[in-house]
Amino acid sequence: MPNKAFEKVIENLTLNKSFKSLKLEGFLNEFSHSGQLILRNIFQLFNDMVHFYMREVKEEFPFDSELVGFFNYNFDDLFINKTEKPFFADRLFANRLVNLANSFRMSAARNKIYIFKGPAGSGKSTFLNNLLTKFEDYIRSDEGLIYEVVWRIPSEKGAYDPIPISHEVEEEGYAFPEDSEGHFFFHGERLLEDTVFEVPCPNHDNPVLLIPKEYRANLLREIVPEGEFKKRLFKHKQYQWVFQDQPCTICSSIFDALIERFTIRDVFSMIFARRYFFHKKQGIGISVFNSGDDLEKVIVRENEPVQKFLNEFFQDSNKVKYLFSSYSSTNQGIRALMDLKAKNVQRFLDLHGIISDEVHKVSDLEERIKSLFIVLMNPGDLEHIGEQNKKDESSIDHSLKDRIHEILVPYVLDFNTEIKIYINTFGDQIKLRFMPHVLENFAKTVISSRIKHESKAIQDWVKDEVVYKKYCDPDFLILKMYFYAGIIPDWLSKEDRSSLKAEVWKNLLAESESEGHEGFSGRESNQIFDEFYSKYSKRRPITMKQVGEFFLDENRELKKKIPKDFLKHLTDLYDFEVLKEVKDSMYDYNEEEISKTILNYLVAITQNIGDTVKNPYINFEEVLVTSDFLDIVETHLIGHNAYPVVKERFRREAIAEYASVTLAKEIKVEGKKITESNQYLEMFSQFTKTARQKVLEPYGKNNNFRIAIKEFGTEDFLKYDTKIREKIKLLFANLSGKYGYTQDCAKTVCLYVLDNNLADKFEF
Ligand SMILES: [Zn+2]
Repeated sequence: MPNKAFEKVIENLTLNKSFKSLKLEGFLNEFSHSGQLILRNIFQLFNDMVHFYMREVKEEFPFDSELVGFFNYNFDDLFINKTEKPFFADRLFANRLVNLANSFRMSAARNKIYIFKGPAGSGKSTFLNNLLTKFEDYIRSDEGLIYEVVWRIPSEKGAYDPIPISHEVEEEGYAFPEDSEGHFFFHGERLLEDTVFEVPCPNHDNPVLLIPKEYRANLLREIVPEGEFKKRLFKHKQYQWVFQDQPCTICSSIFDALIERFTIRDVFSMIFARRYFFHKKQGIGISVFNSGDDLEKVIVRENEPVQKFLNEFFQDSNKVKYLFSSYSSTNQGIRALMDLKAKNVQRFLDLHGIISDEVHKVSDLEERIKSLFIVLMNPGDLEHIGEQNKKDESSIDHSLKDRIHEILVPYVLDFNTEIKIYINTFGDQIKLRFMPHVLENFAKTVISSRIKHESKAIQDWVKDEVVYKKYCDPDFLILKMYFYAGIIPDWLSKEDRSSLKAEVWKNLLAESESEGHEGFSGRESNQIFDEFYSKYSKRRPITMKQVGEFFLDENRELKKKIPKDFLKHLTDLYDFEVLKEVKDSMYDYNEEEISKTILNYLVAITQNIGDTVKNPYINFEEVLVTSDFLDIVETHLIGHNAYPVVKERFRREAIAEYASVTLAKEIKVEGKKITESNQYLEMFSQFTKTARQKVLEPYGKNNNFRIAIKEFGTEDFLKYDTKIREKIKLLFANLSGKYGYTQDCAKTVCLYVLDNNLADKFEF
């Protein structure tokens, strides 16, 4: 009995693995639908791979990311999901990687060494391992379709002897019988498989290169269907190689040798296209070298059976030399050095010769190499090599630098990514043990050790630094961290927000290039978190105070890596945020009431104190104009501490605006309602804002209110009067619904706000 389950496995594997080689003609037929896949060199392939795994997260634009070039890319599929060890790309790095990939599409990529440079513990080897493993997967997928040349040369004498079927045979040489559709037969299809000798191209040439150069353009013009791809193919620089490159020396010599004996039609019939797969472990398509790996002793590689066959077939041992180097196995592939130490230094220097002119000698053959060279290194490594080689090869240093493209892999600078790392290591439940904002602030504290203490970009841009005194550090590290995470905090002043243009962003992003190279490494920050979490997570919820206590502990050595007073300023911001949340949660001012107040004010200011006036906007209700009324409204509109002169000026200007703009223009000319006018809308929003700010006033110093909060949820709570009970219920409901506080956290934060007198701290 056949085992059904096992049969199923075989069936699935057959489906997965069976990629039949195509005859050249079949390969050319593929251009009608898959040209844009088949015609890719390694650089174009890399770009497609990156975009294949990337998701762009559309966000409600806090800024014009297109203009700024700072997008929210998600690389979870490339670096996190289904990996042995995840790598966390923050927003800055993700943008760098996409920019690199896109640059490969912009031009005919030249050989360069792409150096990913980052300090120890930045995770760069994890980055590269994941990238290469996923690249291998990508090449196996439908989207990763790419072909390489394999020669199928008839091996048995009988197979290429003239076979007298119904066919005319050329007088000399060997010809293959052909059926009516132009397919060649040896002794029928099955025999073909048995009697051919496969000679793969060791350089993984794209089969299109076997079409002689001078015919390629015309052929492609015929077989590639009209459309976007065709336009790009003939116009874009990235496709220059399709028309300019030659097949490798081995393929050229096989072609030349065969053409002496066969018709061109026959020679083409021996060219097959098979799918090119990468096998990192076997060093095919992708080769990765560690510093301890021995240098290859025999530089010239050969393949005895193939060479023997070729010698016998052509009866000449010089016609085709099947010789190649280890570089050929990663031609149109990736060659990577995991560091720049020990034996990898020599490998790195060897690359120099290769990349300068793309050609090197293998025995007496020329081998042309086009690969993506990737090197990982620590800062300073390159300079070190330069010094070592100055004495004997002074030119290397300079010319090598021209051939290097650096991409930085610093420590994470985006606090949301930093949190993702903790969650990955310690589990999702850690979020529940922290008061809202506090985990974020832990991550910000870690990141503060990694960024520079001065920012010219921000200093040049921020107009009035004093505005931020109460909730941001004077060096604006906190503000910068928000930007690196792609967030514009809502405490940014209106003025600065409107001047936050692409230019400012560009300066900021340029500044980021020099950051993340020192401070707590990725490894350290995980250890620090571990220690912190095991100390405090039992007494939940973890508060801001504990974060400060932990980092500033004299016994812990963490303090010196954190900028002076950073935690004080971070706590200020925390205070500012939680105060706002508590106030907002208590606020239930009646909008209708506010609207009425503003409309009465607008009517009242044009009258004299003591007058009674009918308000046309609210059914001619009577309003008594008193100085108290005007004063209360103006306090809400311009602030508590405004001097009488300021209030008077404000009133004068309001009257002028009301008459000349609101009435004369907006209402009379534009036909707006009073509640649609600018003046009304601005007053309404300002009044609401102030009312919200002042909402704590009646309760701040009320001890009953404080104790009632403590007793919320217990029977004792019921003894308080309805007004307090309702207020607290509203407060707790909003804190939970709007801001995600559990009852426990809500209590803690309310008491924190009251006990620290935060309402006074932020009184303007
Ligand atoms: Zn070749």
